[in-house]
Amino acid sequence: MPPSTSISALKPRRFSERYGVRSAWKIGASASAGAGIVIARAALAPDGCSRYSPIMAEKSAPGRASSAKSSGGKSSRAPKPAKAPPAIPYSPADVEEIFRRLHVQRPNPTSELEHYDPFTFLVAVVLSAQMTDVGVNRATRRLFPLADTPAAMAALEPERIFELIGNVSFARTKSGNLVKLSRRLVEEHGGVVPRSIEALIALPGVGPKTARVVLNTCFGEKYLGVDTHIFRIGNRLKIAPGRTPDEVERNFLAIIPKPYLAPAHHLLLLHGRYVCKARKPDCPACVIADLCRADEKWNSEPAPLIRLPDHPPGLQGTPQAKGELPRTDGEAEASV
Ligand code: SF4
Repeated sequence: MPPSTSISALKPRRFSERYGVRSAWKIGASASAGAGIVIARAALAPDGCSRYSPIMAEKSAPGRASSAKSSGGKSSRAPKPAKAPPAIPYSPADVEEIFRRLHVQRPNPTSELEHYDPFTFLVAVVLSAQMTDVGVNRATRRLFPLADTPAAMAALEPERIFELIGNVSFARTKSGNLVKLSRRLVEEHGGVVPRSIEALIALPGVGPKTARVVLNTCFGEKYLGVDTHIFRIGNRLKIAPGRTPDEVERNFLAIIPKPYLAPAHHLLLLHGRYVCKARKPDCPACVIADLCRADEKWNSEPAPLIRLPDHPPGLQGTPQAKGELPRTDGEAEASV
């Protein structure tokens, strides 16, 4: 920084520049920004599928967790009741129609991170924090030929992994985490990626969002890992507004029709990445333009509802055959 430039002179990034929306919706003055929000068990699981766990609640609400610890593990405060979802300018029929159309466009939505199996997908998602999918794919094309199993990854030195994935952000930290999580998989899970959110979160370098994305993509579990695209859509369209990814996820899960819960993560992510983009939404290419209530909408004529061509072979319909990784051109927008 030049000596004449003070920190206070630097222009901060506005909310709209960061997230592509004019403002986060006011969804209630009681949203506890400083203390972390209260994560409740999902109330909308008619199938009995619990999407939140006490471990996730502790991780998302550090103030609550620490106060419980200091009082011998028991909180003297009564648990807060789960907040009701905010009112949104869409009827249930509107929401159903939005997801129906997105699903017609992409009947088999999936990740653009190249992988062979749950372990290689877990590795790719760990590497994807603050990275584009294309950048991660470049790194894993060097890494996976040497190590595509937990045992092989655990046998590598972090320094060797760092040499292979040097193009990704925080490569040194991620290299160490890959070795540690691979060792834990070998020692505690028989070399298999566990299908439990608690077990996944316990692995080094794996947070709640990574765990949810892995469970959703590899095992079809009904989770929503809220990334920058899903966060933007929730707030911009006012369909699942929230100040934090946890709030947006909770509000999305409260309204997504049951048949679309499993594909919703990738439907929303791909719509945000390719159509409802951060800087300027591509409204003429949007199949839900007539239903959308975004202030940023600049066209109300919906695009023809046709199935889009699949991504290049291998990028959709994963897992892919080993040794047949495709080329990708151009940089996709960072998803995290
Ligand atoms: S109409 Fe425009 S703002 Fe609304 S969802 Fe489509 S692309 Fe986004």
